[in-house]
Amino acid sequence: MNFNKIKEAEAAHYMPVFVRDNIAIDHGEGNYLFDTNGNKYLDFVAGIATNALGYNNPELTEAICDQVKKVMHVSNHYYTEVQSRYISRLCKASGFSRAFLCNSGAEANECAIKLARKVFKNRGTSKKILASEGAFHGRTLATLTVTDNKNQHEQYSPLPVGFDTFKYNDFDDFKAKLTGDVGAVMIETIQGERGVRPFDNDFLVNAYVLCKSKDILFIVDEIQTGMGRTGKLFSFEHFGIQPDIITLAKGIAGGIPMGACLATEEVGTAFAVGDHGSTFGGNALACAAADKVLEILTDGGLLERAAAVGEYLGNALAHFSKYNFITDIRGLGLMRGLQLSEKIPARSFEEKLRERGYLVNVAGNNTIRLVPPLTITPSEIDGFIAALDEICAATNVI
Ligand SMILES: *Cc1c(COP(=O)(O)O)cnc(C)c1O
Repeated sequence: MNFNKIKEAEAAHYMPVFVRDNIAIDHGEGNYLFDTNGNKYLDFVAGIATNALGYNNPELTEAICDQVKKVMHVSNHYYTEVQSRYISRLCKASGFSRAFLCNSGAEANECAIKLARKVFKNRGTSKKILASEGAFHGRTLATLTVTDNKNQHEQYSPLPVGFDTFKYNDFDDFKAKLTGDVGAVMIETIQGERGVRPFDNDFLVNAYVLCKSKDILFIVDEIQTGMGRTGKLFSFEHFGIQPDIITLAKGIAGGIPMGACLATEEVGTAFAVGDHGSTFGGNALACAAADKVLEILTDGGLLERAAAVGEYLGNALAHFSKYNFITDIRGLGLMRGLQLSEKIPARSFEEKLRERGYLVNVAGNNTIRLVPPLTITPSEIDGFIAALDEICAATNVI
C-alpha cells in the first residue's frame, strides 16, 4: 500500500486524536526504522521510550515466537510457568516483593491509585493523593485527574475526587499541601511528557523523608524513567529513596503492551482476592517478552552498557549549550531533553532531523526529547550529534 492510501484510510476512520508525521513505518531492524518509501531512520523516539531493545532483536524475537507457538494467553484463573518466572525475576531485580501485571502505563497507575486507597480503607480512613504540577500519569479518568492538563480536565469533567496538586519542585508548597488528609504522593522523578523535566535531588529526598515521617505512601511513576532508561534499572535509585509503590510500562516488554505496579510486601498485600484484576494483564506472551527484556538488562549487561552510552549522549549534548537558542539541556542516561527558546519551533528541528535520517519527537513546551533504544551505540550517537550540530549551526535566531 502506498503512503497516501495508508494516510487516507486512517484519516477517514481513526478517531481524530493524533497528530501524525507524514511517514508510514514499514519495519525496523536494530536501532533503525524503515518507512514505506524505503527511507531509513535512526530512531531516537523508540515508540516513546518503549522499544528498549530496538527492532527485531534476535533474542527477544525468538522468545516471543517460541511463546506464541506454545500459548499466548490464558485466563488469570490459571498459573503459567512464564508468568511465575517473570514475576520472580522482576521482584528479585527490583527489591519489591509484590507485583500486579497489566497492559499499559495508565492501568499501572490506576492500580497504584486503587492500591493506595485500599491501604487507607484498611486503616479505616479515606485520604487524598497528591501529585505534581506538570505531571503526566495517563489518560483514564483517575490518571487524567493527576495529569496536569486543564483543557482535558474541562472536557472530561466531572473528574474523580480525592486528588490534589503541589507546585513543581517547590518544597514549601509541597510541605503546605501535605496536610493530614493526604495519604499518598505520586511523582515522576523526571517529567517525561512535560519535556524531560527533572525534580531536584534535594526536593525528592526532602519530600520522601517528610512523607516517611508522616506515614504517607510514596509512589514513583517509573513508566518512562524505568527499565534502564536513566542508567539505573529505576530512576529512584539515583536519589537513594525507597518508594512504597512504583509503576512501570513503556520499555518493560520491549514493545509488547504491558504495565506493572510493584509494591512492598505490606502495601502490596492490602488488596484481597477480587479487589483488582485484568483479563490480558500479565499474559503469557507479554511475560515471555518482559522476562527476556529484563534478563538482557540484568544478566546480559545491557543496563551497564546503556548507562555508559547514556553518559556519552549527555556529554555530547552538553556542548550544544554554545547555541543561545538552546536554553536548557536536561535528563539522565538515555532520556534527554533539549529545551529550545520560543523563537525556534522544536517541530522544525524534528523535520530537519527526519530529512537527515533521524527520528526525534517534541515533548512539553518546545523540548526535543531523545529516548532511543537502550541498544544505541556511541557511533550512532556521533552521527546524530553531527547532524544536529549542522542544523543548529544553520539556525538563525530572528
Ligand atoms: C506514557 C506514560 C504514562 C501512560 O502510559 P500509557 O501506556 O500511555 O497508558 C504514564 N506515566 C508516564 C510517566 C508516562 O510516560
